[in-house]
Amino acid sequence: MELNKPLRTVLNTTNNHLRRLKELGIETVRDFFLYFPRAYTDSRELRKIYELREGETNNTQVQIRSIFTKKTRSGIYLTRAVGTDETGSIEIIWFNQPHLRNIIRKGMWIMLSGKLKRSGIKMSLQSPKYELVKEEQIHVARIVPVYHETSISDVARGRISSKWIREKLFPLLPFAQYFQEFLPEEILKNENLMKYPDAIRNAHFPEDEEKLKKGRERLAFEELFLLQLGALKRKYLWRKIAKEDKKQIPAQNEFLKNFTEKLPFELTTAQKISIKEILDDLAKPYPMSRLLQGDVGSGKTVVAAVAILNVVKNGFQTCIMAPTEILAKQHYKTFMKFLQPFGFNIQFVAGSTAEKTKGEIIRQMKNGTVDIVIGTHALIQENIGFKKLGLAVIDEQHRFGVKQREILKTHGSPHVLSLSATPIPRTLALTIYGDQDLSEISEMPKGRQEIVTRIVPENKRRDAYFWVEDQVGKGRQIYIICPLIEDSEVLEVKAATEEFERLKKEIFPKLRLALLHGKMKPKEKDFVMEDFAKGNIDVLISTAVVEVGIDVPNATIIIIEGAERFGLAQLHQFRGRVGRGSHQSYCFLFPTLETPEVMQRLQSLVKYSNGFKLAEIDLQIRGPGEMYGIRQSGIPDLKMASFADTELMKKTRTWAEKIIEKDPELKNYPLLNEKIENLENISVDY
Ligand code: ADP
Ligand code: MG
Repeated sequence: MELNKPLRTVLNTTNNHLRRLKELGIETVRDFFLYFPRAYTDSRELRKIYELREGETNNTQVQIRSIFTKKTRSGIYLTRAVGTDETGSIEIIWFNQPHLRNIIRKGMWIMLSGKLKRSGIKMSLQSPKYELVKEEQIHVARIVPVYHETSISDVARGRISSKWIREKLFPLLPFAQYFQEFLPEEILKNENLMKYPDAIRNAHFPEDEEKLKKGRERLAFEELFLLQLGALKRKYLWRKIAKEDKKQIPAQNEFLKNFTEKLPFELTTAQKISIKEILDDLAKPYPMSRLLQGDVGSGKTVVAAVAILNVVKNGFQTCIMAPTEILAKQHYKTFMKFLQPFGFNIQFVAGSTAEKTKGEIIRQMKNGTVDIVIGTHALIQENIGFKKLGLAVIDEQHRFGVKQREILKTHGSPHVLSLSATPIPRTLALTIYGDQDLSEISEMPKGRQEIVTRIVPENKRRDAYFWVEDQVGKGRQIYIICPLIEDSEVLEVKAATEEFERLKKEIFPKLRLALLHGKMKPKEKDFVMEDFAKGNIDVLISTAVVEVGIDVPNATIIIIEGAERFGLAQLHQFRGRVGRGSHQSYCFLFPTLETPEVMQRLQSLVKYSNGFKLAEIDLQIRGPGEMYGIRQSGIPDLKMASFADTELMKKTRTWAEKIIEKDPELKNYPLLNEKIENLENISVDY
């Protein structure tokens, strides 16, 4: 295939450039075309010299009358040229581009795009972009694509600049015809979408605004459509497999009622509805794949417990998988408390479990004597197996991958219930977790304390520290979250370490402080968290890694530094670390910027305590990439579409449903099928 050609065979360029491209994930002609512009500038309007306007970016076409370069006393190269058209003449100046004299010569016609500036009484075009006049311009006098570039410091080693990409990609445009249409005709027609090759061409070198818009629209459509189609196909296959191995588990309503009635609280309506949805699923002839979303503290565990109870009562085994050992242990304690009275065999397995004990538990899993196993992903490693696994519960599901869920198929295709304390709006959830059905707990149990949330301006920082010290004196514990530094965990860890040192030396010399960050080994992290949970630490200074779902009821204050750098949903998650005990709890947001936008955004956190609501606001203001902090979100990175585009998500979902309904294995859509399979190969090991 033409598109699979390695770029080195079609580009005339240096090895350094090829290496840089490879770092950007660009190796073939196809990759190159799929590296879409991040923006466009429109330099189509050409002005005559007498129309040039001071202070503005002007595009003009001139003939060069003279050009020379000299080195100034301060050591910079100054290139001066004079250009004319039929309306006048203009001076053009470039700095430090001595090579220009080899490119631009007297008598040539060139296109220029740059600012007109005044120095003294003279006007000149300064450092304009330039291009020789050709049949078709690619750098100026058109809608110009602008790409993500590699660092300026790459210059000597093959820097990938926007200009470089335009220059190299333009001659390859004929290859665009090989992008074979894969969207079904009925979709193209009904949605009036541009054809694939045209969309690719126009995304890079648009013929006009309208075509650019149509091109990008088509690419955005396909992006969301494929995502959902893939998810729906997975959902279909998930159900199909198990037809052979039916696990219809009827609801033991009387028995369950007996359990829920004995709970020390009344279930919320949302909990009851979720329980019903799950019990209905369990009774179906194919395995459940359901995602239960709800804020921290909304009571997901007891919902899961009811499901587990029902499954075990019907003679099946169950497992609960948590992303870290601490969380797993926490669940183990809860389940021992809730379910042990029924005489079930409940076991715990994680990395730290002694080999001998582990061996024994595995034996029990295989021969069916253990009813409930709780642990980390150690649970689904090879050589482990179940006799009769009826239900797997996955806590904090976004911390596991699609793959890990798939592995469960090899354990006899159990029903799967995923839990997530990162509520996301329904339309978005359907798009990215579309292979699962959704249950939502969007209300908190009655009588929960409101966490007092305050935005603390810089001049109140001292007071806040005094107050914190006072609270520690009363026996409370504190989290301090350090700012997110996107793209550099190393810098982030450094900043947190420095903050830790500063607080220890200057602010809280008498308190017991500890540090937690992402570069620590899981064991070390667990150790610190456990120490904090035991009350041996007063102030825990942490990067954003602080575990979701961890329960330290005595921690009542959370301070978030650089609060504006986090998404609202993530701030809300942090806030969920406190307010878990009987003491009044507080969340203090320390912004480093106090602009009206920042303040307004943070105000929504003061105003709302519902995670779904906050996620929605965040999605509208900042888009999904920012919602939770890219690193931990598990939300795929879109190139063209936006997850804030609810309309498009709905439209593409409807089409995906239509296609899957007709042809769930996409037998009549081989190209489409190939697309989603490729997508899965590169996708998301989150
Ligand atoms: P999460 O959704 O974060 O996993 P949990 O299931 O851990 O929340 O519940 C938090 C706490 O709330 C637990 O102590 C649990 O026993 C309690 N809880 C759960 N449901 C209710 C309810 N309906 N009323 C009062 N307390 C509840
Ligand atoms: Mg939980």
